[in-house]
Amino acid sequence: MPPLPLDARALAALAANPGCHRRALLDGAGIDKAALARALGTPSSFGQSQFAFMRGHSFESRVKADGGAELARLLHERLADGSEPPAPGAVTAPDLTAAGPEGRTARTALALREATTAGGWAVLDHPMLALPVAGTPAYLEPDAIVVHPGGEWTVVEIKSFPMIDGAADSAKVGAAARQAAVYALALEAVAAHTEGATVRSQALLVCPKDFSNLPTAALVDLRKQCATTRRQLTRLTEVEDIAATLPDGTSFDVCRPAGELTEALDAVPAAYAPECLAACELAFHCRAKARAGDSVQALGRGVRGELGGLTTVGSVLAAARGEHGDAADPTVAALRRAAALRAEALAGAGRPIVQFPAPLRGSREEAACR
Ligand code: SF4
Repeated sequence: MPPLPLDARALAALAANPGCHRRALLDGAGIDKAALARALGTPSSFGQSQFAFMRGHSFESRVKADGGAELARLLHERLADGSEPPAPGAVTAPDLTAAGPEGRTARTALALREATTAGGWAVLDHPMLALPVAGTPAYLEPDAIVVHPGGEWTVVEIKSFPMIDGAADSAKVGAAARQAAVYALALEAVAAHTEGATVRSQALLVCPKDFSNLPTAALVDLRKQCATTRRQLTRLTEVEDIAATLPDGTSFDVCRPAGELTEALDAVPAAYAPECLAACELAFHCRAKARAGDSVQALGRGVRGELGGLTTVGSVLAAARGEHGDAADPTVAALRRAAALRAEALAGAGRPIVQFPAPLRGSREEAACR
């Protein structure tokens, strides 16, 4: 079966959950996780709806309608470095047409070099970059790359979620930054062979402004995401180590019965977190397993981190009841205190705990509050 090529979204999601051996192994082996989830009987609803796709496509076309002049203007405005703004008609948009991904990658590299040597503003619309992943190139297609007159290159991510009063949903911005970091890493390889070129450590995120269809933008720092993705990619080359721990004959062939596939998946440790629901095709399967195993993982990374060595919901409840754990352990102490407060609150139910001022006593507000 030909391996499924990795794209930037998959690489970014991998970087978002570095502790998951299951995903690292399946992605490293190029297994179609959506098909695997279907075969397991837990198909995911993960992915963009057709409506969201169309909306995103139409917004992107609008942003790039003028050959990239608006993108260069938005970037210059955000840089606020006192340099001259791009003059009307001075932004070039090189033709990147070529046959096949290898041809498009070579054409992109050439266009980047030419634009850098020319020394003006240039916008590359849907360029193609290659990033070696576990020994084979993954072909990636960013929304755009802007070449600055000074030889700097900026990755552009165009998203259809809104930026309201200059701020967007932090989870969505985080996902966009992880994706942009994958492109920035691929771009660094081209920059290394281009004289005078540097890849900026900030990407330009372009979104609809407030509730309109007008574009607005923000610079997003990529340094942390680049470091995490780089580390994850190194780990991917070690999938053989994960595979070596599996029982002989383990197979993820989606034509096998669901029971055998479940057994095969169970042999690879996972690190489920609710964030998987928005990033991985196997989320429903892993969530069901985490819940069935009474694991605190299903409650999220924040809660899991707070609970320290207590890894099951049963052990947490037992610790809170005083039946398990060391009272000197701060986590156990905090759980017992929380349980005592809860018991106190429940015992006091029915008694007013808020003293209303005289004019409101007996009012509907007081009744509602009680
Ligand atoms: S859904 Fe499962 S396989 Fe996918 S990242 Fe989460 S834990 Fe790993």
